[in-house]
Amino acid sequence: MKKTLTGTDVVLLYHRIGRPKLSSLVAGQYVAPWLLKSELNYLAANNWSGVSLADILDRGKASPEKNRFAITFDDAYLSAYEHACPALIDRNMSATIYVVSGAIGGINEWDSRAGDQCESIMNAAQIRELSDAGFEIGSHTITHAHLTDISDEQLQQEVTDSKNAIEDIIGKEVVSFSYPYGNFDERIVAAVKAAGYQNAVSAKLGVAGLSDIFEIPRVNVRWNAFGPLLMRKINRARKASGITH
Ligand SMILES: [Zn+2]
Repeated sequence: MKKTLTGTDVVLLYHRIGRPKLSSLVAGQYVAPWLLKSELNYLAANNWSGVSLADILDRGKASPEKNRFAITFDDAYLSAYEHACPALIDRNMSATIYVVSGAIGGINEWDSRAGDQCESIMNAAQIRELSDAGFEIGSHTITHAHLTDISDEQLQQEVTDSKNAIEDIIGKEVVSFSYPYGNFDERIVAAVKAAGYQNAVSAKLGVAGLSDIFEIPRVNVRWNAFGPLLMRKINRARKASGITH
């Protein structure tokens, strides 16, 4: 008899960890440390397993039998290193962290140029420490560029040089990529593949199961994604991906 697969795989997207700063242009991107912990506890209590992005990508195209979630952090904020990674390590979990290679040890210049709050970015030693602790380090370009707006040559540089720079820090191959601002098109996907990446995440809402491996949708977790609200968003992601059960 054919086994009925009922599980869903989702990739959660986090940015900054901390109390929302109302002065920020993206105040909703701050998730308080206590809220992150409560989300992890809520998902565990509701029978969701926390796994790595690699686990989710490894299992082929079919849905798993159990609901699973992987955690990703875009931009490699120091606040994620300080407040989120220890909570994950406590729970035997890891995450994929997408680093803007030109901002390592600096600040989020791409946001501050646009008038937003300055936030510190992890330094090389912290990135290496997380990699050694089992976290996956991916690339999020050199400058957090709008990839749709730059030349082929600049595009190639953003995807290849960031990969090389991060590999030099962690001493491992970088296989995962995150499109800045979630912007991608055919040209960008081709450049990411040509640079040697094996997968890429977008910011489009959806579940991971049936997606193209270079257009993996995510669930963007915002400041108010308290248990039931997070579940509502996951259910919206399931609908967006055409899953009705
Ligand atoms: Zn970003």
